[in-house]
Amino acid sequence: MNTVKRIDPRRPFVIAASGLRRITLGDERAAGLVDAAEFAALRGAHAAAPKPKRVYEAGLRTLLAVAHSDRGALDEHARQAVAAAAILADAKTEVVLLVFGELTDDAAALGADKVVQLPLLARPAFAPDQALAALRDCVQAFAPAHIFMPDNATGDGDLGRRYAAQTRASIATRVVEIDAGHVGCYVDAGRSFATRPLPEVILLAPDAVSAKLPFVGSGEPAALKSGRAAEPWHDAGRYGDHGTAQLDAAQVALEEADFIISAGNGVTDIAAFEALARTLGAAIGASRVAVDNGHFTRDKQVGATGKTVNASVYIAFGISGAVQHLQGIKDCRHVIAVNLDASAPIVKRANLTVIADAQSAMRALADAVGAAKQGGQGQAGPVAGTPVREGLAA
Ligand SMILES: Cc1cc2nc3c(=O)[nH]c(=O)nc-3n(C[C@H](O)[C@H](O)[C@H](O)COP(=O)(O)OP(=O)(O)OC[C@H]3O[C@@H](n4cnc5c(N)ncnc54)[C@H](O)[C@@H]3O)c2cc1C
Repeated sequence: MNTVKRIDPRRPFVIAASGLRRITLGDERAAGLVDAAEFAALRGAHAAAPKPKRVYEAGLRTLLAVAHSDRGALDEHARQAVAAAAILADAKTEVVLLVFGELTDDAAALGADKVVQLPLLARPAFAPDQALAALRDCVQAFAPAHIFMPDNATGDGDLGRRYAAQTRASIATRVVEIDAGHVGCYVDAGRSFATRPLPEVILLAPDAVSAKLPFVGSGEPAALKSGRAAEPWHDAGRYGDHGTAQLDAAQVALEEADFIISAGNGVTDIAAFEALARTLGAAIGASRVAVDNGHFTRDKQVGATGKTVNASVYIAFGISGAVQHLQGIKDCRHVIAVNLDASAPIVKRANLTVIADAQSAMRALADAVGAAKQGGQGQAGPVAGTPVREGLAA
């Protein structure tokens, strides 16, 4: 008899704010988490009105979210870790966010009530002992019930594990399921599913939590009393920091590229497009039509049947934004569209749209970058007569 317990191959569930008993989308007043006056004002307002602030009693209980920032921003995975803390926080719980690096994102919008920034321990600095000491200082200062971190390979996953090992804290890693009572993760090479009550340290797998919150936190800045984290890092001697090396964008897998320019059917001058990618140091992507036309190899295709990318900047030249293409760029942070058609679907997804001919826009951009690189004034402005439209990401 087969004794191996079969598990549901689907992700157990994603915790979202609307999934919580106490915090329900559109029911903030009933949940007792929002001022009645504020709630009434919001009800009469337009749908795009500011989100209500989560109400809590300070000083009773704390949840700590910890993450490294990248050029002042938290990536989606880190945002999910903060959201997990915010969603699980009740009206007696404060959410503190500890950021290794600077944070220019709105901490309140992330769901944090207090935010501590450690700019000297930003990601390029390899200072594992000091990062650990700073985390311990923060835990000592706020005495959190639980610590939430993204389980990534870029610093947080390692830091969380070392913290748990050093302090003998209980820990769950690669957590794919979480609610107020338990965490769950796959074990035994993915053949079984294990659950347990919430441990002290929770390292979340990507997409276990929805980062979309129906409320905001207080977002107040806070500082650690101990000055250790404010001192220049001093791990040198025990560790060697060889710095970071810049890779040619062409050598980076499309899925890992931070800056992508992508060509669609509206790009006719392929040579100019490829030259622009070299000038910008961007990786090249393409729509399926551009690939089918033979302009690019299949490995450049972005979309449902191509690559899923998560670049900080994705510039789509002459791409209509068919749903299959949008699927591949759902995790991109800033999408810029260049298109002749202001009603193309990509415009709704884009954060910024330039209504222009792709060829002229590429020339203007190459000129501007060339001028800036030569130390010139970078005077080449937008494409003549080009309307630029700022749009909200969907
Ligand atoms: C099962 C299935 C899977 C698919 N998978 C994928 C996938 O993984 N990836 C993918 O991309 N597609 C995929 N597709 C195809 C997808 O539906 C679209 O057909 C495709 O994305 C369109 O590519 P496009 O936007 O480059 O071309 P078009 O649809 O032809 O759009 C061209 C765009 O360029 C604009 N344009 C034209 N000329 C210019 C100019 N001179 N300057 C500026 N803009 C200009 C036009 O206004 C238009 O918006 C899939 C389809 C199916 C059915």
